[in-house]
Amino acid sequence: MCSSALCMICGRRLAVSTCPLCGRLMCVECSVQLDAPVRVCVECFRRNSHLGRRGLLALLREPRGMDEAARLALRVIPTPGRVT
Ligand SMILES: [Zn+2]
Ligand SMILES: [Zn+2]
Repeated sequence: MCSSALCMICGRRLAVSTCPLCGRLMCVECSVQLDAPVRVCVECFRRNSHLGRRGLLALLREPRGMDEAARLALRVIPTPGRVT
């Protein structure tokens, strides 16, 4: 395990945590705190912004909901070169 992992979103700052939704390393600047220990990356936060903080927290607390959120997140990721 590397103790000085870089944030996978900005690639510049040291990661402080991993996003529970996409599993990427994220730094303080690239993450949003939902509740005391719970943080998600800004991208997942934006992607699920329609749920709000409470909705996201509810998803993270339920294993099934988390799976759903991950699937949802994957579906909404814009893929370059693909015209929709
Ligand atoms: Zn970052
Ligand atoms: Zn994420």
